[in-house]
Amino acid sequence: MTQRLQWSFDKGSDCCFLDNLSANHSSHPLPPSIASALAELRTTDCPHLCHTDLGLPDGTSLRRIDFIGPKAAHDSIRLGLFTGIHGDEPAGPLAATRLLSRLSREPHLAAGYHLTVYPTINPHGLAAGTRHDQDGFDLNREFWKGSTRPEVRLLEAELRASRFQGIIALHADDTCEGLYGYAHGRLLNEELLRPALRASGQHLPMDERPLIDGFAADAGVIHFCFPGVLSAPPDQQPAPFDIILETPAKADESLQAAAMVDGVLAILAEYRRFIAFGADL
Ligand SMILES: [Zn+2]
Repeated sequence: MTQRLQWSFDKGSDCCFLDNLSANHSSHPLPPSIASALAELRTTDCPHLCHTDLGLPDGTSLRRIDFIGPKAAHDSIRLGLFTGIHGDEPAGPLAATRLLSRLSREPHLAAGYHLTVYPTINPHGLAAGTRHDQDGFDLNREFWKGSTRPEVRLLEAELRASRFQGIIALHADDTCEGLYGYAHGRLLNEELLRPALRASGQHLPMDERPLIDGFAADAGVIHFCFPGVLSAPPDQQPAPFDIILETPAKADESLQAAAMVDGVLAILAEYRRFIAFGADL
């Protein structure tokens, strides 16, 4: 019997579990590198970390990990980090676990943040090593269009409830020549994405091509995006910042994860500066 957890979140800085036993719970075998990283994280004794398994209708679950950083002068900033929506991109989940492990050792890096991480969004795809889910759906084209995919419905509910102020999605692209990202045509996104790419660039080269993934690109920044990608509810106001960071999937997985971790940390630092600047206006 596997213990299954339902979460309840206190609006303050505390996070707690409600234990709930489910005899039918089963899970998909994740790639060993991801499974062991998640297991290690689960045994990490850190007061900032909170693990939750969100139940899906078929008895499996989606992992959610909250990291509630030390308090800062400003109100806690809620960020969502999403990885593993494409099952053939294991660097993202690996980066998510490494990031949380780093933050558990150096919590000040996330001071003033409540980071909510969904490391393995497409568990079937990750288990099979496929981009799509078990029924052939690309989950990253299914958002906010009445999708019936259970993972999408669950995440849409999470996105509505959490009202993230920032959304970061990590991906790997097997057709690119280096790092790049999507800024969705918003200046704030671009101002956060560029430092993220610079930080990631310590580990891997940039994709400098003027055309990436079919879109015009400027020093690795794309201003357009596919419809249906994971994003905030369309009616959420103010809209959160929303960044997609892509690593070259053919590069060493560990280097991709390192690039992603430093990219996310750069976004945390840069957005903190942005908030501080806003407070001074
Ligand atoms: Zn992807």
